Formats: sequence, structure tokens, C-alpha cells
Amino acid sequence: MADKILVVEDEITLQETLAYNLKQQGYEVETAGDGKAAIETARRFQPDLILLDIMLPILDGIEVCRILRQEMNMPILMLTARDDEIDRVIGLEIGADDYITKPFSMRELMARVKANLRRTRLDKEGAQALPAQPDNEIIRFNNLLLDLKRREVLLDEKPLTLKPKEFDLLLYLARHRGQALSRDMILEQVWGWEYTGNTRTVDVHMSWLREKIERDPAHPVRIVTVRGAGYRFEG
Ligand code: CA
Repeated sequence: MADKILVVEDEITLQETLAYNLKQQGYEVETAGDGKAAIETARRFQPDLILLDIMLPILDGIEVCRILRQEMNMPILMLTARDDEIDRVIGLEIGADDYITKPFSMRELMARVKANLRRTRLDKEGAQALPAQPDNEIIRFNNLLLDLKRREVLLDEKPLTLKPKEFDLLLYLARHRGQALSRDMILEQVWGWEYTGNTRTVDVHMSWLREKIERDPAHPVRIVTVRGAGYRFEG
């Protein structure tokens, strides 16, 4: 069955171009031109992925993302036009999975869509089909516990809400505790070689993760920045 994609974009030419190219790739596509229509269409269409522009009439993409995120967990790829919009996507934890900056090439966008869909598929399959590994089902660092089988993270015994990619990232860090890891390496290992995004994605996810697992995210002690190198997980 074809994956379903909802394109939310108010610039009609871009909306049509996106829809056309996605259909050419075999996706089932619906479109919306404002924030209210986006939410209604998402609820009815139940897409596997949403391309979501930020500047939209009625409700902007940030609000749409926030609202939909409470109801559904398909990947949301934000289309941002300016750097300050990226900062909003990063700064406010709105639950977007990824973003792409305009102008982008169709090739780049298709690769990103594919990678995000593939990731959720792997997450779903992984959750169902991975054989139990009794030896490393639980990884614990003091008050931080990763339950691999349940894909759950507990801090002070309380479950954290992590997005699939945040969990993958934390797991990768946990398995390489004490090692300096470059952004490129992290991108390749956690996002996969097909991923065409840049290393800023890594920084964004690190900051989200710090918000969740650090006592003082401004002065991280678990995920430390290694100047000129990348990141190191201290446990
Ligand atoms: Ca727009």
C-alpha cells in the first residue's frame, strides 16, 4: 500500500509541484493550504508523513505541529523559509521530526521524505520483530535508565517522552559512553547514510535530548560538547 503524504503549503505553485512530484514517486497525496484545513485533513486522511510549511494562513505551521503532535505520531517535516524560522522550530519544542530550508531541490526533499518514512517503518518493525536480548535489555546510568525492549527511557523512575529519533540518538550515545563522537559520525550512524540533512540536525536533537535528561540543560553534564570534535556522553 502506498504511503500517504499530506502537503501543507499555501503557495499554490509549490503545493502543486510537491504534490505532483510525490505522486510521481508513487505516494498517495492530499493537500491543504491553511492551518485549519491541515488539521482537518490530517485527522481524516491519517497520513504517514506531513510536509508542513510554517507561514500559513489561519494557523501557522508551528501551531499545527503542536496540535497534531498531541494526537498522532507520524513524521512531520517542516518547510522553513528563513533562518529565524529554523530557530523557532529548534527553540520551541514543537515536536517536528525534521526540517528542510527553502529553497530546496526536489531531489533533496524526496530523499528526506524517504528517509523519514523508512525510519518510522524501522521503528515499528524494530518494536515488533527484534528478538529479546536479555544481556543488554536495560542500560542504566545512575538515575537514567534505557529499556531497549520497551524503547522507554526513565529518569528518576519516571518515563520520559522521547521521539523515536531521540531514543535512537540516546541509545547510540549510551553505547559509546566516554567517546568523543563527531557530528558527521552521529549523523551517519543514527540517521543513516541516505540522510541528506546537515549536521545541524544533530545539534537540534542534542538540545532536545538535553532538555529532557539534563538537570540544567544550559550546563549539561551528561551530554557534553567536545570543542572542535562533537559530543561525548558521560553517562
Ligand atoms: Ca507559506
